[in-house]
Amino acid sequence: MYCSFCGRSDREVELLLPGMNGCICNDCAERAAELSREYLGKMATATMTDLDMDSLPKPDEIKAYLDQYVIGQETAKRYLSVAVYNHYKRLNQRRDDDIDIEKSNIIIVGPTGTGKTLLAKTIAKMLKVPFAIVDATVLTEAGYVGEDIESLLTRLLAACDYNVAEAERGIVFIDEIDKIARKGDNPSITRDVSGEGVQQGLLKLLEGSIVNVPPQGGRKHPEQKMIAVDTKNILFICGGAFEGIERKIAQRLNTHVVGYGAGNHISKTDRDKLLHFVAPQDLRSYGLIPEIIGRLPILTNLEPLDRDALIRILTEPKNSIVRQYKKLLDMDGVELVIEDDVMGFIVDKAIEYKLGARGLRSLFETIMIDVMYQAPSMHEKKFVLTREFAERQLSKSNFELLADK
Ligand code: ADP
Repeated sequence: MYCSFCGRSDREVELLLPGMNGCICNDCAERAAELSREYLGKMATATMTDLDMDSLPKPDEIKAYLDQYVIGQETAKRYLSVAVYNHYKRLNQRRDDDIDIEKSNIIIVGPTGTGKTLLAKTIAKMLKVPFAIVDATVLTEAGYVGEDIESLLTRLLAACDYNVAEAERGIVFIDEIDKIARKGDNPSITRDVSGEGVQQGLLKLLEGSIVNVPPQGGRKHPEQKMIAVDTKNILFICGGAFEGIERKIAQRLNTHVVGYGAGNHISKTDRDKLLHFVAPQDLRSYGLIPEIIGRLPILTNLEPLDRDALIRILTEPKNSIVRQYKKLLDMDGVELVIEDDVMGFIVDKAIEYKLGARGLRSLFETIMIDVMYQAPSMHEKKFVLTREFAERQLSKSNFELLADK
C-alpha cells in the first residue's frame, strides 16, 4: 500500500488511511488540512463584509436592545452603546484619513451580580464583529503556572473560526480585571506574578501590538504554531467588582473637602452612591498601574440593585426567570399564575440572605422544584403560586443556611 500523494509505502509512514481509489498518509493529510484552512481563511478574509454604517444599529438602538434584557444600569448602557458604535466607525474609517480615531477601551466598575457579564453577553448577541468573554483570574506572567496573557485572544480567534482578519476587529470583554490589581503597595518584596506582571503584559495588548497567540490556548501544547494577531483595532471592555473601592473613593473625596465640618461623615446612602464618583485615581490606589488606566479611558460604573430593581429583574427581562418558568410549565400544558405578593417575598429573601440578583434564580428554583416534579403528570391545568406556598417550600429547604449572618 502506498500513499497516492507522496508515494511512500505503509512502512515509511506512521499511518496510511485508505480511500476509495487510493490512500493518504498522515503527513499528506495534515498538509492538506493546513492548506484548506489557509485557503478557506483567505476566502473568508476576502469576503469579509464591510460594515455598512447605514444598516448598523445606532447607539439608541443598541441601548434599546440592552434594555430588553438588562434592568437599570442606564449610564453603563449608554457608554457601552456609544463605544460599540464608535468601534464600528473606526473600522469603517478610510486608511488615508488624516484623523486617526483612537480606540476607547472601557472599564466598568460595579458590585458583583449587578449585570456586568449579562451586559457583555447581551451586547455580544447583536454585534457585527467577533466577541469573546475572558476571565482575568487565570492569567499569570509568562513562565508561571496559569495562562499567558496572549491566551485572551485565543477565544476571540475561536469565535471567528480562526479568521485572523475578523478577529483583529473584534471586541474582548475581560472580566474580573480587579483580580490582577497589584497586591499591596510594595511590589519589590516578592514577585507579583498574577498582579503587576500580568498588567504589564496586558498593557501590550491594550496598546495595540502584534502578539503571538497560541491557537489552542494555555501552555499544554508547546508544539502549536502561534498565530500573529494585531490588536490595534480590537476593542477591550474590562469589568470588575473592585470590592472595597468605595473606601478609596471616600478617602479621596474627604481629603478634598475643605471647610468646617464638611464631609467628615459619609452617610450610608452616600456610601451606596460613592461608586458614581469613581475616578481613575481610585483604580490606581486599588492597584492598577497608571499605564493600564490610561489605556482604559472610559470609566463607568454599575449601580447596586435595590428592591425595585430586583423585582423588575424577576419579571421584566425578555428571558426573565418568571417567563422561563411559565414557558417550562406551558410545555407541560400547565398555566402558571403568580400572585402579586410572591415577587416581593422572593426579593426580600434574596436581600435577607444577601444573595443579590444571582440568588433570585436559585430561590425561585427551590420554590418551584416540587411543582416542576409533578407538573407533567398533573391533572390540573393551572398552578397558582401563592406566598404561603413559597414560604412553605423555602422553609422546607435548607435555604436559611445560606443566610450571611
Ligand atoms: P456580574 O456583575 O457579577 O458579572 P452577572 O451579570 O453575572 O453579574 O449577573 C448575575 C445574574 O444576575 C445574571 O445572570 C442575571 O440573571 C441577574 N442580573 C444581574 N443584574 C441584572 C440586571 N441589571 N438586569 C437583569 N438581570 C440581572
